[in-house]
Amino acid sequence: MVSSTRSSTEARLSTKARYPFLPEAKIEYLSLGFDLDSFKSPSTKPIVERAFKRVINALKYGENVDPSDVAEDDKTEIASFPLAIIIVAKTGDKFLQRRFALAEASIIQKRMNELMIRDESEVISGEVKRWSEFIQEIARNVFMMDVEKVEYPPYAYTVGLVDYLKSASNINDQAWKLVNRVVDKGRVYLEARELVRLLRDRIERYILENIEKAEREIGKLPENLEEIVNNVKSQIPIRKIEDLAVAAISRPDAWPPCIRSIYSKLTSGESVSHFANFLVASFLINTGVSVDEVVSIYSQRSDFDEKIARYQVEHIAGLKGSRTRYTTPSCGKIKTNGLCIENGRFCGNIKNPMTYYKRKLRELEKVDKSKDADSDKHGEASS
Ligand code: SF4
Repeated sequence: MVSSTRSSTEARLSTKARYPFLPEAKIEYLSLGFDLDSFKSPSTKPIVERAFKRVINALKYGENVDPSDVAEDDKTEIASFPLAIIIVAKTGDKFLQRRFALAEASIIQKRMNELMIRDESEVISGEVKRWSEFIQEIARNVFMMDVEKVEYPPYAYTVGLVDYLKSASNINDQAWKLVNRVVDKGRVYLEARELVRLLRDRIERYILENIEKAEREIGKLPENLEEIVNNVKSQIPIRKIEDLAVAAISRPDAWPPCIRSIYSKLTSGESVSHFANFLVASFLINTGVSVDEVVSIYSQRSDFDEKIARYQVEHIAGLKGSRTRYTTPSCGKIKTNGLCIENGRFCGNIKNPMTYYKRKLRELEKVDKSKDADSDKHGEASS
């Protein structure tokens, strides 16, 4: 579903229609004077249909959504963005909310990358800006990032440490770890594509904040929008959560707090660090959960790609690569990564989460046996 070239329809749209988080797009939307009841009118039907399509595209394709799939005109494209946010908010589904934010932010990332490849300009605040200035202006003036231009190939920008860490810590890739970066006097050097990647993270957060705001503040929708929300809800995949396959094999009530905490984030579609993903996958594999079931947990992530997830889990299970099953990381390593819960005070003096699991499992099995014995006694007494 990825398009590498800009369609003629997309090229006809203004900058604010293609970058709907820009303050200018918001001003344009407000100038249209719409309220929720405006979307009952047949004259706004194209906007409602486009908003629905934006949401469904995000649900189906996630970050692989096609940036050239746009409305025919500026007004429809601009107004459909806040309306899509309202629709997503009203589903109340966290997975869809994250996936929508990811999809829309990925579209912007692709547009900016293409702008760079074509060495083109955009019009922002009434001024024509070459791509390098356009990107810098968005970073500085829209997201208040401390970004400077440099000419030090391959680097094109530097960003202050605080701003770098704010976004880069959410990216699951070793290349983004500070130790692997060029840093000088508190500034991190970035290639243009890398600044665009950090911007994607800011845009994703901006969209999520707006979804949360809409969820809190928007009241009852007109009937036609309510129907759309229900239609969207009916298309959200049913999740296989712990009460199904995983729980049948690995007892969640025997999991240590660190695993439970990451697991609940994963099943609500939240993104967690590379290490946290590895920890949960290796823990589950070592408690006997199958590759398929572990992959199904990752399907809750907004950026889920089954091929990649399956490859990684099979690697951890020893079915790929070195053919060695990975052991679950130690508590020491989990602490270093900031994932131990309350410094292990619920766990006793253990060195590995598997020790907690095995110990707890034995306790739970004893309790189960005594309950069975009790119910047998009651059964005999009443017969
Ligand atoms: S002590 Fe170990 S098992 Fe317990 S929460 Fe911390 S890291 Fe997890």
